[in-house]
Amino acid sequence: MTSAEQKEFDQFMQGLKKRNPHETEFQQAVHEVALSVMPWYLQHDEFRKAQILERVTEPDRIITFRVTWMTDEGEIRANRAWRVQFNNSLGPYKGGLRFHPSVTQSVLKFLGFEQIFKNSLTGLPMGGAKGGSNFNPKDKSQNEVMRFCQSMMIELHRHIGEDIDVPAGDIGVGGREISYLFGQYMRLENRWSGVLTGKGLSFGGSAVRKEATGWGCVYFCESMLQQHNESIEGKKVAVSGSGNVALYAAQKLIHKGAKVVTLSDSKGFIHIKDGLTEEQWEEIRTLKEKQRGRLSEFKGSGIEYHKGERPWSIACDIAMPCATQNELEEAGAKTLVKNGVIAVCEGANMPTTFQAISTFREHGVLHAPGKASNAGGVAVSGLEQSQNAMRISWSPEEVDQRLRDIMKNIHRRCVEEGTTENGRVDYIDGSNIGGFKKVAEAMLAYGAV
Ligand code: NDP
Repeated sequence: MTSAEQKEFDQFMQGLKKRNPHETEFQQAVHEVALSVMPWYLQHDEFRKAQILERVTEPDRIITFRVTWMTDEGEIRANRAWRVQFNNSLGPYKGGLRFHPSVTQSVLKFLGFEQIFKNSLTGLPMGGAKGGSNFNPKDKSQNEVMRFCQSMMIELHRHIGEDIDVPAGDIGVGGREISYLFGQYMRLENRWSGVLTGKGLSFGGSAVRKEATGWGCVYFCESMLQQHNESIEGKKVAVSGSGNVALYAAQKLIHKGAKVVTLSDSKGFIHIKDGLTEEQWEEIRTLKEKQRGRLSEFKGSGIEYHKGERPWSIACDIAMPCATQNELEEAGAKTLVKNGVIAVCEGANMPTTFQAISTFREHGVLHAPGKASNAGGVAVSGLEQSQNAMRISWSPEEVDQRLRDIMKNIHRRCVEEGTTENGRVDYIDGSNIGGFKKVAEAMLAYGAV
């Protein structure tokens, strides 16, 4: 960046921070995008005059509401819920719902903002949104989760619709929660529509949706390595998380001949010295998906549990953070670099802190940001919408093929927009510029709206 560009960037960020005080996660997400797009933005006066950057960082609307529900003991509880409808320039709002005690308006604004550009990169007609609640489904009974979801939908149903806003799952919201939410939506609206994605296969869900984010992340990683004359086969991969994204990333990595050497949850991580086997993967899937257990309970040969730690101390060729935001900090990045990591491919949203990103950049580590590498989930959600609208179901093979094609196209966009003078690709710049341009063009075309 030239000094003039830097000055414009600093002024823009100052204004954004003033308008959104204390929203550190949102500020971090905007910082990353604005840093990439500023030179292009400043060279195109028509976008600047239309204040596209200022407008795209202001959500269309944020709906905040109380969700009151009853515990099994008959006690009343209340949580706060949000739907951030960020930008619908490219299509109906689309983005997941997160249930986790750490959910705040700032977290949902960062996720909704990222979602705009991720959805743009998929090439499908989807705007950006995110929602959720500070409700913790972890320590609740099945009936409590059902009552919470039903109560939440009593307000949410007024704001969503297949051509308006189509929520999906995220942390703490899986098939069970989507089913309760969908059931209540139908009761309130008295009609079946593809208003939520991630539904069960027997009632309008798409094949490969559950697997899509993790598999898509591995497809992207493969393209990124190929582009730089490397391959995924035989590589040691440190995966974090053991939820939806991490599990199916690990499954695809095993199928591709890579060695998955770690998995984690919020209490610690496991080191799998010889690489995860398919049998061990199946046991962990049962433990996490069906029994809702902890990795500390998993006992297997060659497996070491590290309580309260993150997996970045384990030597690997590829790091695949698939748990949550800011889980890979500078210290972890330095250790990974010291141990010879060649690529970081994000399954989670914004898992890498700004300092850690700088460390990877300094050392020439390939780095795929979530908005490119984890876009497979929302892409198959988009395909679920299409199948619902056409009242048909594609086979798993057909959906998987479309997913592969979409991930390849996203990779191509990153290469087009992010190739540097030395021939390496800066995937952060590539995805930010590639995602931003399309939204900016649509907003410009709409005029002052
Ligand atoms: P899940 O709820 O299925 O799994 C989350 C995993 O991350 C769990 O292993 C959980 O541990 C761990 N985790 C959650 N919070 C923390 C924390 N604060 N510190 C350490 N570990 C934590 O969520 P998903 O797999 O669906 O989502 C993971 C990430 O991927 C998120 O960033 C999400 O936004 C992103 N993503 C998800 C998509 C999807 O299709 N599901 C699509 C695109 C992005 P524990 O089991 O102990 O809670």
